[in-house]
Amino acid sequence: MKSYDVVIIGGGVLGGAIAFYLAKRGVENILLLERNSIAHGNSSLAAGLLTRGRFKPALIPMVLETYQAIHEVEAVTGRSLHVHRTGCMYAAVSPEHQKNLRELAAISTDNGLKVEWLDTTTASHLLPWMRLPRDTSVVFMPEDGYVDGYTLTSGYIKAAHTLGVQVRENTVVTAIIRRGDQIIGVKTDNEEIHANIVIDAAGVWAGLLAHEIGIGLPMAPIRSHYWITEPHALFSPEQPFVILPDARAYARPETNRLLFGFRERESASVHPFDLPDSMNGFTFKKDSQGWETLMEGAPDMSLYFPLIEQIQISSYVRGLSNYTPDGNFVLGEYPGLRGFIAATGCAGAGIAMSGGIARLITDLVTGQPPYVDPAPHQIDRFGKVDPMSYEFIQSCADARAGKVTG
Ligand SMILES: Cc1cc2nc3c(=O)[nH]c(=O)nc-3n(C[C@H](O)[C@H](O)[C@H](O)COP(=O)(O)OP(=O)(O)OC[C@H]3O[C@@H](n4cnc5c(N)ncnc54)[C@H](O)[C@@H]3O)c2cc1C
Repeated sequence: MKSYDVVIIGGGVLGGAIAFYLAKRGVENILLLERNSIAHGNSSLAAGLLTRGRFKPALIPMVLETYQAIHEVEAVTGRSLHVHRTGCMYAAVSPEHQKNLRELAAISTDNGLKVEWLDTTTASHLLPWMRLPRDTSVVFMPEDGYVDGYTLTSGYIKAAHTLGVQVRENTVVTAIIRRGDQIIGVKTDNEEIHANIVIDAAGVWAGLLAHEIGIGLPMAPIRSHYWITEPHALFSPEQPFVILPDARAYARPETNRLLFGFRERESASVHPFDLPDSMNGFTFKKDSQGWETLMEGAPDMSLYFPLIEQIQISSYVRGLSNYTPDGNFVLGEYPGLRGFIAATGCAGAGIAMSGGIARLITDLVTGQPPYVDPAPHQIDRFGKVDPMSYEFIQSCADARAGKVTG
């Protein structure tokens, strides 16, 4: 039986980032296994917003780590990851969201982020497609940007491979092998592989593998989706991306088109047992083309984006992210079980958090003091849960429906 120090399941942004971090920390003998081809899961479907502003201050260092990781990956591979450093704008109209925005700005400033308050004339100059009521509160975070999820994921994996990580595509992990309170490796479709540590970074499929060895990961696969318009003279790639909490929406340039997404009031979930092997061609049973969500969100969005009523939509992109009931992640060991680490549950922020999650997991694997507190993300923080129950899945969908940040 082949033997590795670490086996990582999943060649998405988290598996890739962890492989890179472990290798740069000097861990040797690492194997990354991907069922399809790398970045084939949900990472390449993401809008890719790297939003630094977070209501939970503990998450800010994790996003900052991703920006640092991007520099390092570019240095190792000698290739740009093409981060669009456009800045991020927040525009809040209702008293409730204006109050939230003041809070977000204060948390951001306290954590060393650059925050500028803009008047609506300046904001409209930066985003000519956007219409804002005069008493809108507008905050601009000039350092933020967005990145293509495929480019970032393949960058991490290329950098990891350069540093010695073995990457095997088209290899399905059919089971994690448990012997008593110890994980000893994985079974693939054609062999058994021994590992001292198995990292489950299999995205929305991570919970299924864990379920088979008696671990309930507290998360559920929930839909995220967005639309892309046809080209228009009002859109340009230099424009900032924008968060519009009153419309439960975000938007960013996609070359000379606009990409925009809504958080629907009732999020669509997929039961883990019904997950497809690949996201290619996967359609949701309900509202499969997102029209119902578009019709639900368009009236509020049209207050800020009047063109939405006329412009053609040229693409619709949908995928899945793991959501948890509290919006924190699912990271680390399972109590009483050695050799297993989960790296998942990233609540629709896996691109932005990839570097931060990878650094934390690497601290745990190498026995270093964790650079951020892992407690909010511990697997057992809800006690024993049954992630296959419809009630639990609904609690995760409800958490997603309440999300208003980027
Ligand atoms: C529409 C949409 C928009 C989003 N926008 C943003 C955004 O703006 N900013 C942000 O930060 N995040 C965003 N996200 C969330 C982000 O995409 C995810 O958090 C992130 O991609 C999760 O990465 P992952 O590596 O866990 O999962 P994945 O990218 O899905 O990777 C998991 C990999 O594991 C592989 N795998 C699964 N099972 C097995 C197995 N048994 N054996 C071997 N391999 C296996 C899969 O094939 C897959 O490649 C968005 C998501 C969607 C769907």
